[in-house]
Amino acid sequence: MSVAVSERDLRVPDAETPARCPHCGRPFRSERLRALHLGESHPERCSADERAAYETAREAEADDLFVYHLKVVGALVGLYAFFVFSYMAVAAVQAPG
Ligand SMILES: [Zn+2]
Repeated sequence: MSVAVSERDLRVPDAETPARCPHCGRPFRSERLRALHLGESHPERCSADERAAYETAREAEADDLFVYHLKVVGALVGLYAFFVFSYMAVAAVQAPG
């Protein structure tokens, strides 16, 4: 998968560029992002260490995504409970008798 990205979108201040792709020179804000880029964009040129870093970064990314999904589900359950209890409270007040 290749997405066209302009130079303006890639511009990262030099002080904030701890990592750079050795193949295409693209700057990254972290080693983890660079490892993901290497594994996705240059899989045929990866060394064993870069491949291992890619696998580690992918697992960390999957863990972060899982935690994000848990938070979203928790927020939806909380919102649902809030509406159900609000409805019950209003229905109890307005019930005849
Ligand atoms: Zn690259």
